[in-house]
Amino acid sequence: MKDIVFDLIDEEKVRQKEGLELIPSENYVSPEVLKAMGSIFTNKYSEGYPNFKGLEDWDEDKIGSEVLSNYRYYGGQRNIDRVERIAIERAMKLFHADHANVQPHSGANANEAVYWAWCEPGDKILAMDLGHGGHLTHGSPVTRSAHIYNFIPYGTKDGDIDYDELEKLALEHKPKIILVGYSAFMKVPDFDRVAKIGKKIGALLMADMAHVAGLIAGGVHPNPLEHGFHVMTTTTHKTLRGPRGGIILSMGNVASPLKKTEKTIENIPILIDKAVFPGTQGGPLEHVIAAKAVAFGEDLKPEFKEYAKKIVENAKCLASELQSYGFELIGGGTENHLILMNVMDTFGVNGKVYERALDKVGLTLNANAVPGDKGGAFKPSGVRLGTPAITTRGMGKPEMKKIAKWMKEVMDICVADPELEKSDAKFDKIREEVKAMALKFPVPAID
Ligand SMILES: *Cc1c(COP(=O)(O)O)cnc(C)c1O
Repeated sequence: MKDIVFDLIDEEKVRQKEGLELIPSENYVSPEVLKAMGSIFTNKYSEGYPNFKGLEDWDEDKIGSEVLSNYRYYGGQRNIDRVERIAIERAMKLFHADHANVQPHSGANANEAVYWAWCEPGDKILAMDLGHGGHLTHGSPVTRSAHIYNFIPYGTKDGDIDYDELEKLALEHKPKIILVGYSAFMKVPDFDRVAKIGKKIGALLMADMAHVAGLIAGGVHPNPLEHGFHVMTTTTHKTLRGPRGGIILSMGNVASPLKKTEKTIENIPILIDKAVFPGTQGGPLEHVIAAKAVAFGEDLKPEFKEYAKKIVENAKCLASELQSYGFELIGGGTENHLILMNVMDTFGVNGKVYERALDKVGLTLNANAVPGDKGGAFKPSGVRLGTPAITTRGMGKPEMKKIAKWMKEVMDICVADPELEKSDAKFDKIREEVKAMALKFPVPAID
């Protein structure tokens, strides 16, 4: 008998096809990425790292298995080593980095490994406040890192980083790391300005670009590694359109992590390798690394540049359409793929209610706190949405206009019926319209 799990996969395919994915951290992978991820590389153990020689003249087409495998704890690494090297080299090329570690299981693991590579327990890390757009892993008290390190939060002002506050805090606390990264922030950070501050105090400059890495790879967003930053972490499943996972890019000396290594900023690539394995992880997920390699290959193609450009164009179009319907956008608009709106102050409807109502019509996004939110985590005042997934489906301006219109119609229903009890028929009508449009745009690896 067929396992129920496979029925649920089929159900999920229908949900993904018929709805519109507006969660800014989600995307659709290609059939090739999916195939690599579902491959027999999942059978293999490969603790350690492949090939620390020959980084200079490496060529993935010509590479021979004999030059590989010098720091692995298991035999049978012939193919795995080549796959992981391909992932590493492509990641380095994408982000112009001296080094890439492609083993982190997720964005959270990538961040923890960097903290572990550079800090001692109790050391200070300056990072964006969660309530202002930072990520949980940047010091939220519910995380392990926050128990180990001493996080100092900085905030935003009018939707942008409060650079004066950041500088003041940096000079006062002398943190070991200054972290620029976020999950709900719509501006392009001034990396040069932060790098200048960091260099005054000798801090490690770390960027968590989990959300915008695809925009960086696509050339429509500055690369922190080209603006004085030493380390960049990212997830691979958001705008990069790869499998779920993380990577760490860095600048500096590259050598075998078996070597004794002095703790200097120049040695950060080596310290990071040590911190990922054996510091914080065991065996890497080589089937996921294979899928990362395939995704990075796609990200290096000219089409991906077009895609990145389109994501931002769509976000700007959707933002201005929403504004024309009276929605209030944090920061007054967007410079990336993200939109954050305060719906409580504008319409008197909290983010959770609005999220639930939009779910009923097949528009998926998430409730989100806005800077200075009084609603707390369970009744946040805002919602966060974005364009990476719908842009992958090939949608453009006409579709952005329709989405904004539906969002306003759903908001009108919420205002009239905040308990959402009497409005099923109205939701059904919009749901049919959403579905009809969605089905015109195929989902990669489903259709
Ligand atoms: C999504 C995200 C992460 C975490 O990634 P996971 O893969 O969910 O662990 C970390 N940092 C930022 C800024 C993110 O947006």
